[in-house]
Amino acid sequence: MSGRPGRGRPAVFDEGRREKYLAAITGGMKAHEAAVRAGVSRNIPAQYAKTDSAFAAALALAKKKGRAQRLDDMPHNVSRYVNYGCRCPTCRADATKKRAASPDRKPKARPAPAPTPASHEVIHMPKPAPQTPTSLPLLLVRAS
Ligand SMILES: [Zn+2]
Repeated sequence: MSGRPGRGRPAVFDEGRREKYLAAITGGMKAHEAAVRAGVSRNIPAQYAKTDSAFAAALALAKKKGRAQRLDDMPHNVSRYVNYGCRCPTCRADATKKRAASPDRKPKARPAPAPTPASHEVIHMPKPAPQTPTSLPLLLVRAS
């Protein structure tokens, strides 16, 4: 036993790469992009964080800063409203605009129904008997 963590696994995620990785995360890069930048496989940093609590803490801080950094770079729009919970007037206005323009608010956008085959007969339902003027007040009395 050499006492080295990782049971003889080569030290691919050495200090230089860790610093590079943390710097990339702090700068707002996504985890997989930062791994590419540091020259390691994308799952290595997370694995490493499980065995090195100091790195895990540094990574958590870097992620927090990175998120703030991405937020700084992000324009105020519906994406920021939805993904980051921004409720400033610009984001709210854009979200309202996008909601109003969404397809489920436009019944006209639906495809026309298929034409009814000629063999089908149209059945006319009998019209309901007109209500007498006294029936509504009577129902209200009964309901109370
Ligand atoms: Zn906003």
